[in-house]
Amino acid sequence: MNIEYSYKQPKSLLNKGTGFLTGYSHSLNPYTGCSFGCSYCYVRRMPVSLFRGKDWGSWVDIKQGAAAVLRKELLRARSKGPVTIFMSSSTDPYQPIEHKERITRSLLEVMVEQPPDFLLIQTRSPLVRRDIDLFLQLGDKVRISMTIETDLEPIRKHFSPDAPPIQARLKTLQLLSEAGVSTQAAIAPILPSSEEFPHKLRPLVDRICIDDYFMGDGSSGKRSRQLGIHQWYEQLGLEEWHDPSAYKLVQERMKQVFSEDQIFISQKGFEP
Ligand code: SF4
Repeated sequence: MNIEYSYKQPKSLLNKGTGFLTGYSHSLNPYTGCSFGCSYCYVRRMPVSLFRGKDWGSWVDIKQGAAAVLRKELLRARSKGPVTIFMSSSTDPYQPIEHKERITRSLLEVMVEQPPDFLLIQTRSPLVRRDIDLFLQLGDKVRISMTIETDLEPIRKHFSPDAPPIQARLKTLQLLSEAGVSTQAAIAPILPSSEEFPHKLRPLVDRICIDDYFMGDGSSGKRSRQLGIHQWYEQLGLEEWHDPSAYKLVQERMKQVFSEDQIFISQKGFEP
């Protein structure tokens, strides 16, 4: 898909952590819009997408000069109390354009200068590996949560054809772990997966987060129903995976190779 890029000069960057992110003092989105355009993305139904009047996944705003804004905001926020940041709640901070624009990297450089108490980076992009040097400087103040909804590439292609391949994400988790960066695999939202899935993750991570549309879309599944997600499962004849109990199957499979204290369900898996 051709992506429409625009440059914007943000007045502010840090948003108050609310709803699903109440465990965080702030959320931070280096971009507005997301070129991965996943079919199940709940942001499609949020004002940022609805008011834009263009297909979600077809446009991205680049927040120019973001580092200078963050530097000021972080100073102020840190003087008021603990700062815990979730990056990002309504985009992926490692958009393909980040290769060139380096907005996310510039924000991380600010955070190395003025470390927050905790930073969670939620991404599905192998580009995150570029910033290992900065994660090492942030030490235990940062965790990389890599979205790996399934181990089956045809399933990934069905639900999010423009997102990075699963194998590249697994490889990235391996590189991050080997470098000593704190990581987790976020099976979120769970998509149909194989019995081998836990064995593929076991050598790479010590922490698993499992979430689905019903627990994790911030509206008890309402937004997901509005998106007509069930159709995507019906097309594959895999409707049983679009069920509030489906996560339990994945949880049981994960328990075969991970201990219970390594498996987190829904919001718990994203908390600082
Ligand atoms: S990567 Fe995240 S923000 Fe982007 S479309 Fe997919 S679910 Fe939405």
